[in-house]
Amino acid sequence: TSGRLDGTVALVTGASSGIGAATARALAAEGALVVAAARRKDRLDEVVEDIVDAGGRATVCELDVTDQTAAAAAVDGVVAEHGRLDVVVNNAGMMLNGPVEDAPLDEWERMVDINVKGLLYVAHAALPHLLVAAEAEPRRVADMVNISSVAGRVPRLGAGVYNLTKHGVGAFSESLRQEVTERHVRVSLVEPGAVATELLDHQRPDVREAYQNRFRGKDLLQATDVADAIAYLVTRPRHVAINEVLVRPTQQQ
Ligand code: NDP
Repeated sequence: TSGRLDGTVALVTGASSGIGAATARALAAEGALVVAAARRKDRLDEVVEDIVDAGGRATVCELDVTDQTAAAAAVDGVVAEHGRLDVVVNNAGMMLNGPVEDAPLDEWERMVDINVKGLLYVAHAALPHLLVAAEAEPRRVADMVNISSVAGRVPRLGAGVYNLTKHGVGAFSESLRQEVTERHVRVSLVEPGAVATELLDHQRPDVREAYQNRFRGKDLLQATDVADAIAYLVTRPRHVAINEVLVRPTQQQ
């Protein structure tokens, strides 16, 4: 490992696939002990196995972030087991697009529950621990990285509720940043464009097809590209806070 995160503990939500899995690997490669959280235990096991095989340290945390009690218990469990929490990557999320008219309401409920409420539960539980880590060696700084999207800056027809959740993540992150940055907790917002992951798998087929058509033939971001950005911002010196990263595939308009 590079050693830049040696002695730190990182919690990554949505670590069973896509950006979260790549981020877990990237932070472990920097020396962090990574707690990989999501619902699919078999997929988390694979990610953790890979990390350990590569010489890193990681553990599995089976968690549905929409369960407030479970989210708080998971965060507190990390600190009980590993003694500290230096980095939280709030990445768990879902995109269920389509017109507002006649939209299945359960899709809206799921996006608000995961993208907004789940993120808030984890953030709330993690903050006291991050504030402690921010005063502790070796770094004397702590990080909360919240994954938004280009959709958190630019609303689009057919993505209204996803836009709502990700704009919310951006607003909350900036407000929290102002609250804790003087105490050396850095709150960063990452806004990826189209990344090749499992994100589209949960969409209704017609909605998925429209999205795929929009990006057909274009070279999308890979999950590792976003993980690189996250690893970069959590390895900056104590006095440097990268507040926001907007990263698109070059061919995305
Ligand atoms: P994936 O579908 O590959 O990953 C989503 C992750 O979230 C999975 O690990 C999933 O794990 C987890 N997750 C979903 N629901 C829950 C839940 N209730 N509790 C805990 N974990 C949950 O997609 P991406 O990697 O693309 O998505 C990661 C983040 O990146 C999301 O917030 C997404 O909005 C954002 N993003 C993605 C973009 C893209 O183009 N792919 C662009 C911009 C932003 P499990 O099912 O095992 O619980």
